[in-house]
Amino acid sequence: MSEASSSILIVSISRDDRRDLFDVLDGGPYETILTARDYDQANALLDHGAEPTVAIVEFTGEGDQAKKLAQRLRERPEQLEGVLGLISGRARGDCYGWGVSVDGIDDWLRSPIDPMEVSYRLSKLGSADSEHAPAVATGSAAAGAAVEGHQILRLLNAVNCLDGDDALNSDALTAMAKHHHFEVFEILRERGGREAEPQLLVQLDKLPLGSSGDSLWNHQAYYDVLAGKTLVLADGAWESVRDVWLSRYRIRALIGLPLLNDDGKAVGALLAGSRQPLADWDGALEVCRNLAERYSLASLVHHYRIDSRFRGLHDSLTKLPNRLLFNDRLHSAIAEAQRNGELFAVLFVDLDRFKTINDSLGHAVGDQILVAVSKRLRASVRASDTVSRYAGDEFTLILRHIVQRDDVLRIAEKITRVLESPLTLSDGAEMQITASIGIAFFPEDSSDADGLIKCADVAMYSAKGMGRNTFRTFVALPEESHQQRLMLESKLRQAERNNELRVYYQPQVDSHSEDIIGMEALVRWEHPELGLISPGFFIPLAEETGLIIPIGEWVLRAACFDTVRWQKDFDIPLRISVNLSALQIKQPNLLEVVKNALADSGLAPETLDLEVTESINIKSIPNLIEVLSELRELGCNISIDDFGTGQSSLDYLKHFPADRIKIDQTFVRNIGIDPTDEAIVRATIDMAHNMHCQVIAEGVEIEDHLRFLRDNHCEEMQGFLFCRPLPAATFENLLTERARLLAGG
Ligand code: C2E
Ligand code: MG
Ligand code: MG
Repeated sequence: MSEASSSILIVSISRDDRRDLFDVLDGGPYETILTARDYDQANALLDHGAEPTVAIVEFTGEGDQAKKLAQRLRERPEQLEGVLGLISGRARGDCYGWGVSVDGIDDWLRSPIDPMEVSYRLSKLGSADSEHAPAVATGSAAAGAAVEGHQILRLLNAVNCLDGDDALNSDALTAMAKHHHFEVFEILRERGGREAEPQLLVQLDKLPLGSSGDSLWNHQAYYDVLAGKTLVLADGAWESVRDVWLSRYRIRALIGLPLLNDDGKAVGALLAGSRQPLADWDGALEVCRNLAERYSLASLVHHYRIDSRFRGLHDSLTKLPNRLLFNDRLHSAIAEAQRNGELFAVLFVDLDRFKTINDSLGHAVGDQILVAVSKRLRASVRASDTVSRYAGDEFTLILRHIVQRDDVLRIAEKITRVLESPLTLSDGAEMQITASIGIAFFPEDSSDADGLIKCADVAMYSAKGMGRNTFRTFVALPEESHQQRLMLESKLRQAERNNELRVYYQPQVDSHSEDIIGMEALVRWEHPELGLISPGFFIPLAEETGLIIPIGEWVLRAACFDTVRWQKDFDIPLRISVNLSALQIKQPNLLEVVKNALADSGLAPETLDLEVTESINIKSIPNLIEVLSELRELGCNISIDDFGTGQSSLDYLKHFPADRIKIDQTFVRNIGIDPTDEAIVRATIDMAHNMHCQVIAEGVEIEDHLRFLRDNHCEEMQGFLFCRPLPAATFENLLTERARLLAGG
C-alpha cells in the first residue's frame, strides 16, 4: 500500500463483490483499480501489460483457476505486494477456506465485503511479507526445509480469532509454542451454527496443503477428538490414525485434546503433531493442556462478551436495537450521508393510547402488542434501514438512501396502514392499534443526531395533534426556518462562484451487454461546512429562488465538456443525460443556452439527452411541447424522467415529444415485492414501445430487478447495481478500465 503508483486488481464473479470492493478502494491509495469478472478477463488484463501491486482473487469451484492466476501474478515478485483470496459465502468449506494455505495466496477475505476487513487485510500484506516470505512463495520442498530441524507442532484448534478480542490469540499461541520449540502453523475452529464444520481460521506458518483435490476437512484425528477421544501417541501416529494430513506430513507423535465450551461440550479439537517421536513428552502435553484450557476460558469470556454486548444494545422483549445502538447507527448514518451527499430520514413512531391498553389489559397484552408492532415495522422497511425500540412504546427508524421526500412519505403511509390492520392476541382476541409518526430529514431539518430526533419528536406530536393514526413531517417555526433559508440561499448563491458545485456521473448501461452507453449528470454541492449536499435537498431551494437557472446552465456546460473529452479519449459515442428543471424550460433563451453549450464544447447534439420530469406542470409552461420539439430539432434527445409519478394522461403523453421514457425508481424498487408495480412497469414498457420510445429504468439495485426488466424488454438501465454516481475523475477511471478490458479481449 505504500507505493505511489500502485494498482489493485479485483477478480470476482459476483458483481456485488466487485462493486463493494470498488467502493471501498475508490479514493484510497491505489492509483488504478482494475476489475475483472472472471479469470479470462484477468489474464487478458495481464497479457496487456497490467501490473497490479495487489490482487484480490475470488476462489470458486476447486479453485484451480484462481490458483493459476495467483501463480501468474507471483511471477513478478518485485512489484507484487501480495494476493488475497476472496471466498464468497457459498464457496466456504470447499477445498480451500479461511486461512488455508494455498500457494500464492497470502491471506483471505470473505464476502459479503466488510470495508474494515478489506483495509485490515490489505494493510497486513506489506508487513507480513517479510516474516513469512520464504514459506509463502515456495512449494512444499522449501517449506519443508523451513521447518526441518524443528519439531513440528500442528495445532488445529477451536479459537474464535475472528473478532480479534479473544484471550487466546495467534500471537499468544505462537509465543507459547515457540517457548517449547514447536511451530504452530494452523489453528482450526468450529464453524458456528448447525453446519458445525471445522474451519481454518488462522494460518501462522504457511505450509502448503498440497494438491487441490484434497478435502481439507478430511481429518480423522480431528473428528475422533470431537467425538470425545483424547489422543496421546508418542510415536507411529500417522500409521495408526488414518488421517490425510498426518500421513502427508509424516506426523509421528500426536496429542489431541477436546476443546470444551462453557457447557463442557467438545466444540473443537486441539491437535499437536511432531515429525519426531516426542522427547519432551510432558512439556508438550503441558502446552497442549494449557492451550486447551485457555481456549475454554477464552470461549467463555467471548460468549459472555458477545452475549452481554448484544443484551446491552438490544431490547430484550422485541430484540430490536435499543436507544444506545440507535444513537450509534444515527451517528454513522450522518457521517456516511455527509460523505456521500445522501439524504436520509428519521421517523419517530409512537403508539396511540398505549398506556391505556397496558393499564386496562395488562402488561402481557402490552408486550404482545409491542412484539407484533416491532415485526410489522421491520417488515415495512428495507433490510438496510434501522428500526429500534427507543423507549416504552416509542420506536425510531432510520430510512437511508432517500432520493426524494415523497419516498419517505410513502413509507410512512405504508407503516400507518400496516399497523392499523387488526392483530390477533394469543388468546384469540383481535385488537387494533394505531400509531402517530413524526418525520425529520437529514440535512434539511437538522444535521446532527439530537436535532434530528428532536425534530422527529416534534413532528410526531403534531401528528398526534392531527387526531392520531397519521404522520407529519417536521415544520420549523416560521422565523427559524426563514432565517435558515436565507442563510442557505445566500450560500447557494455563491456556490457556483466559489467553485463548490460538482457534477457526478452515473453510468447507464445496455440491458443485454451491460456495457456502458451513457451517463446521467447529477449535481452535488460541496458545502464548506456541511460537506457534500444532495440535490434532493438544494435543488428545490434553487428552483424556488431561481438559482436553478445559472446552476442548470453550469451543469449542462460542464457535462458537455466532460463528455466530449471522454468521447474523444475513449472513442465511444457516450450519451450524456442532463436534467432540465421546469424553470429552465420557461426561459425564453433555453434554446440559445443549449446551442451554445453544444457549439462551445463541440458535443454532437445526438449525444445530448435532456431529462424532463413527468410531473412538470403543463399549465405553468404552456409552450412546453414547442420548446421540447425545438430542442429535438436541434438534434437533442428528450427523456421523460420519473415516469409514473406524475398525473399525466396517456393521451397527453401521446403528444409529448419524447425519445425515451425513464421508469421511476419507486416502481423498480417494488419489482419482486408488489405485483401492481410490476404490472405498471410492464405496461409502461409496452406503451413506450407503442409510442416508438425507448425505455430506461432507474434505481436498478438488485439482480432480480435486472432480470425482470430485461425479460420485459427494457432496453437500458441505471442504478446502484451497476454503479453509483461517481465524481468525474473516478468515472474516467471506469472508462479507462473498460478500455483496457476491451483491449484485452
Ligand atoms: P433523478 O434525475 O431521477 O436522478 C436519479 C436519482 O436516483 C439520483 O439521485 C441518483 O443518485 C439516484 N439513484 C440512482 N440509482 C439509484 C439506485 O439504484 N437506488 C437509489 N435509491 N437511488 C438511485 P440524486 O443524484 O440525489 O438526484 C436527485 C434528483 O435531483 C434527480 O433525480 C434530479 O431530479 C435532481 N437533480 C440532480 N442533478 C440535477 C441537475 O443538475 N439539475 C436539475 N434540474 N435537477 C437535478
Ligand atoms: Mg434524472
Ligand atoms: Mg428520476
